[in-house]
Amino acid sequence: MDKTEKRIETTCVQGGYTPKNGEPRQIPIIQSTTFKYDTSEDMGRLFDLEAEGYFYSRLQNPTCDTVARKICELEGGTAAMLTSSGQAANFFAVFNIAGCGDHIVSESSIYGGTFNLFSVTMKKMGIDVTFVAPDCSDEELEAAFKPNTKAVFGETIANPALRVLDIQRFAAAAHSHGVPLIVDNTFATPVNCRPIEWGADIVTHSTTKYMDGHGAVVGGAIVDSGRFDWTANADKFPGLTTPDESYHGITYTERFGQAGAYITKATAQLMRDLGPVQSATAAYMLNLGLESLHVRMQRHCQNALEIARFLESDPRIGWVFYPDLEGNPDHELAKKYLPNGSCGVVSFGVKGGRPAAESFMKHLRVFSIETHVADARSCCLHPASATHRQMNDEELRAAGVGPDLVRLSCGIENVKDLIGDIKNALDEIEDV
Ligand SMILES: *Cc1c(COP(=O)(O)O)cnc(C)c1O
Repeated sequence: MDKTEKRIETTCVQGGYTPKNGEPRQIPIIQSTTFKYDTSEDMGRLFDLEAEGYFYSRLQNPTCDTVARKICELEGGTAAMLTSSGQAANFFAVFNIAGCGDHIVSESSIYGGTFNLFSVTMKKMGIDVTFVAPDCSDEELEAAFKPNTKAVFGETIANPALRVLDIQRFAAAAHSHGVPLIVDNTFATPVNCRPIEWGADIVTHSTTKYMDGHGAVVGGAIVDSGRFDWTANADKFPGLTTPDESYHGITYTERFGQAGAYITKATAQLMRDLGPVQSATAAYMLNLGLESLHVRMQRHCQNALEIARFLESDPRIGWVFYPDLEGNPDHELAKKYLPNGSCGVVSFGVKGGRPAAESFMKHLRVFSIETHVADARSCCLHPASATHRQMNDEELRAAGVGPDLVRLSCGIENVKDLIGDIKNALDEIEDV
């Protein structure tokens, strides 16, 4: 470690912003759509990308850039940007390098919103997807690639399936086909895993989850590792390696190099045309969350492990799924990629199926019923009666979300109160 490099806890608190003499200690909120210049020539140089500066907050805003810089440092990347949501981040991450007629490979246990984005909306745009199971064989993974494949996608820890991605294996497969690996690191956060160190090229986040951590602001982020050589596969990525006629004929890889081409294109082209920006005030609130991310993640994981162990020991529980438990199918992967703990989300089944699960939910007092996860406050969901309620029991089982499944998002409260709440709700389950 060199002297200028900081440990992750220090970066959570101080990354991205170093005030000069007399400047504010907390990051300034530049809540302004626009920026003033003395002459048209001054502004012209910005539009030609000859000078650096701000002119309109749909493209860049100083507060958002400060927070993006912190997330970039946390992930160990070379460039980063904020977006209005995690959905926008994952859409941009793929659409920046894949268009109509292209194809991507994705692991199948990913977040439902992303699954739908890839399989329905991006399909309508002419981008084809092949899904592979996270534990597919090397042959199955290899067979998923096509000549027009432009990227591989997966989640470090899948939401809510809690499968752990073998990042090195997926990165090696992507690189052998000359394409980058994009990893959604929302559930692990850079505190528990830094996918770039394992070979990922692009990292995305729904900052709505642990990064904000207080259920306050919807947001997203994209980080570029700067490691993927777009020019070595120039024919696959013409958007980065040939002139952009819509942007002064600039070739992003020539002008901004391997470290900056990908994020500059996503900002100058996709954000310009599609516009899902984060606001300065929202970015400020996200930064408050980031300042305690390392402290909260530790407590989320401690609480979740203790709760998972309690559930395992209770005879009224049918099964428990949590990667940090010995005996979990992904435990070896979790030990390798997530040695300090995985996340605060635990899923389990109550004996007695759907009616028992519904009754259990009714009697919780500390855990509140929400579709949200990864919040300081503990929350809980019974997918069969909420997000997946249009499915019958057979369809639920086929989707890997049995009618008995309860998803807990363990918060940072005192774990005794959380276990007490679960115990009490189990005691109260009506005979069914
Ligand atoms: C929530 C979530 C998203 C979507 O993020 P939003 O901020 O809700 O748009 C994407 N990926 C994962 C892993 C998520 O948990």
